[in-house]
Amino acid sequence: MHYTTFRYENKGFLESWLPTSYQLTPPRLSREVASFLRYMETTQMPVGAMAREIQAPIKVKYCLYARKSTESEEAQILSIDSQIKEMLQMAERDHLEIVEIKKESHSAKEAGQRPVFNEIVEEIKKKKFNGILTWAPDRISRNAGDLGRIVDLMDQGILHEIRTYGQKFTNSPNEKFLLMILGSQAKLENDNKVVNVKRGLRARCEMGLWPCTAPTGYLNSKNTDKRCHVEIDPHRAPTIKKMFEKVAYEKCSGRRLHAWLKDEMKFKTKGDKVFSISNIYITLRNTFYYGSFEYPKGGGQWYTGKHTPIITKELFDKVQEQMMEYTRNSEHKEFAFTKLMTCGLCGSGITADEKFKKQNNGNIHRYVYYGCCRYQDKDCKSGYMREENLIEQLAGLMDEIDLDEIGMKQRIKDEIERHKRFNVGILGLKEATVKVADVDIRNYAKHVLRGGTILEKRELLTCLKSKVVMNNKQIRIA
Ligand SMILES: [Zn+2]
Repeated sequence: MHYTTFRYENKGFLESWLPTSYQLTPPRLSREVASFLRYMETTQMPVGAMAREIQAPIKVKYCLYARKSTESEEAQILSIDSQIKEMLQMAERDHLEIVEIKKESHSAKEAGQRPVFNEIVEEIKKKKFNGILTWAPDRISRNAGDLGRIVDLMDQGILHEIRTYGQKFTNSPNEKFLLMILGSQAKLENDNKVVNVKRGLRARCEMGLWPCTAPTGYLNSKNTDKRCHVEIDPHRAPTIKKMFEKVAYEKCSGRRLHAWLKDEMKFKTKGDKVFSISNIYITLRNTFYYGSFEYPKGGGQWYTGKHTPIITKELFDKVQEQMMEYTRNSEHKEFAFTKLMTCGLCGSGITADEKFKKQNNGNIHRYVYYGCCRYQDKDCKSGYMREENLIEQLAGLMDEIDLDEIGMKQRIKDEIERHKRFNVGILGLKEATVKVADVDIRNYAKHVLRGGTILEKRELLTCLKSKVVMNNKQIRIA
């Protein structure tokens, strides 16, 4: 293994910055940074920098900082332990004094989100150490905030050196500048990665390709030249088509369809599972089957797929109408929030109603409205409000509403238990260590409000102690 020296007089500036051994994750330099370095190399070094090199060195006490960037897609990413091992070997070879080793598993994307990193900054201020030894410059700075804090500490003269595998940064203008460039490069790459992924997905959609797992009835092409190509699943597609036909022409309900698939057709998904009722509804509402899809879901951007449709748009529309008809006639309308509130004007109870609206793509959207039932005042003018609006406002109220904490804790405990059983039993993961105290009760309540089932919402509402009144599209605690 070769190691570079860090003296200007032996090598060109460029070489002194680059590690000669590349068998471990080398910090890749972008073309811009490399050309900057080349520029620096051909530029006269300031006398001050030379003089500093010759000066008697300050004794540097290092903190070894190891972090794994969780979002890294690079194949040769080193584990925290192997980073530590490599750096300890380097420290021994170069006689570096390490006073502490710190590990962090968080990604550094959001400033201030790394507790261990923050600890290091504090301890440098307390002069516990004055150097950082870390794998690569990007470990220190994935965002502008962290980078600024580090350079500040150098400016103040309390952080003398940052050493990485193959590079060294001290309190000199050029080295700090380089550190900032390398740090900014890491941030740029990080930002670009997100943009590129999004752009790549959009480009595929525009080509009519579906960038996700194919829905039941289709298969993702195994041919690597045809990434994102979706082919008809010859075993399942005929049954999917028959499902639509049974709803459209035989007015078959979801429950009957479920029984037919399970008992008569012995239908199984690609994962060899029975098709659940909710899967049936998802399938019947999926425009993909007639050749059109929205990506991302709810994003409002529609594409015409390149895949072969299983059904016609006419059949799809007929199914939507039939399902609307069925829901309209259904006795089991479920509204989660009626019992929670009273009218703010007249004190009557609150009732809910649903309306259906046909969208341009043929989907039918169900809207739920809440309003005064006008039992006390038949001319009450408190108005109606949409369920989405109500949920948002309720979530906002969660911070001030009176909750039955004991009841809530029990529910969260049950939820964690269920989650644990799923993780351990089904996914085969190691047992999670979430404790009830870790879960913010009010955040849990918001989570249930926005994403829970009707049953979960009802259970949650039994834990609310405050009375909520509604008037003119606003709710408040009584
Ligand atoms: Zn009223």
